[in-house]
Amino acid sequence: MKSTEITELHKKYVMPTYAPGLVLVKGKGSKVWDADGKEYLDFLAGIAVLNVGHCHPAVVEAIQEQAAKLVHVSNLYYNENQPQLAQALAERSLGGKCFFCNSGAEANEGLIKLARLWGSAKGKYEVITMKNSFHGRTLATLTATGQEKVQKGFYPLPEGFKYAEFNNLESCRAAVTEKTAAILVEAVQGEGGIIPADPAFIKGLRKLCDEKDLLLFFDEVQAGVGRTGKWFGFQNYDVQPDAFSLAKALGNGFPIGAVVTSPKVADVFQPGNHATTFGGTPLACAAALAVIETIEKEHLLKNAQVMGALLLEKLQAIAAKYAWIEGARGCGLMVGLVLKDNAAPLQKLLQDKGLLTLATAVRVLRMLPPLNVSAKEVEKAAALIAEACAELDKAQ
Ligand SMILES: *Cc1c(COP(=O)(O)O)cnc(C)c1O
Repeated sequence: MKSTEITELHKKYVMPTYAPGLVLVKGKGSKVWDADGKEYLDFLAGIAVLNVGHCHPAVVEAIQEQAAKLVHVSNLYYNENQPQLAQALAERSLGGKCFFCNSGAEANEGLIKLARLWGSAKGKYEVITMKNSFHGRTLATLTATGQEKVQKGFYPLPEGFKYAEFNNLESCRAAVTEKTAAILVEAVQGEGGIIPADPAFIKGLRKLCDEKDLLLFFDEVQAGVGRTGKWFGFQNYDVQPDAFSLAKALGNGFPIGAVVTSPKVADVFQPGNHATTFGGTPLACAAALAVIETIEKEHLLKNAQVMGALLLEKLQAIAAKYAWIEGARGCGLMVGLVLKDNAAPLQKLLQDKGLLTLATAVRVLRMLPPLNVSAKEVEKAAALIAEACAELDKAQ
């Protein structure tokens, strides 16, 4: 099929919830190709999904082998991969237990239900989330999302959510009532514009939660699975949450989400409290186990730290040259170039030049390359950004 045929078919039969830009047909590592054979450097990675790159051989092999052996059994039976994945996540984080689901919104929904069930005996049910956050698109998670743009048109919203200012401990303290069960926060706000939390804020939240008998939750859907140079974003802050959510990169594109807990809340959900048909299938868990093994074997946490620092340094040098660029910020390979105005024209120009990025929070150019990106690829991306910025500067 030609790309025009594909886009026409899409427009006719797929709901217009997105406005896709390119017809992509093939990927390998940090590169993708469109239907006309044009090559792109993928610094978006499926929005922080392809942490070990497109079609990593270890993940391909794990999926192929498991697909030919056993795909799904339901959770009415054990499967050999699910407890191994739970162990791998527990050992790298909080030492508790996991619940597996299929997406980020579903994982956050699980956290919200966990908070409510835990708090139900004490009359606590409210969850405090941050303004400018992003937690998903189900009714509960779009309510948790502290941005009116995702809520507009979907009123009335479910009850039990309160909003506080990100990186403002006093605002969180002021939002706590005797009904508060939990605080949910991102270590680095992703969709909100790559804004890392202040260490004092995160430490203060932990103290506040201990003081007031609240649960502290992290949404690690975007920052998790090595993206920030640690297994999980909160590990940059030397703080232990009571639970966190995962999805995006966990299966490197194979859909899987997880609620990961500390021992304190590991047994709050009992039979009948929570469920999902596709959660933790042998196939999804095989993909995720291959992802974790690959990150470890190829030292990708270290690479994310080193490549993240290199990318940030290059972007800061570019930012320093132009008055219309505010700066660059990030954590590991979650990196943003912050403009003073709309970042969409820069994103479009870069796409034409063969670099995929994403304009987010209006004026931030978000970059989330695979964790195994090479220095050569980072340098090439930086050169393309420098070139595009010079062109935009001339046109101004
Ligand atoms: C993407 C994202 C979600 C939603 O995940 P879905 O899989 O799209 O439901 C939730 N939280 C954060 C921080 C995200 O980046």
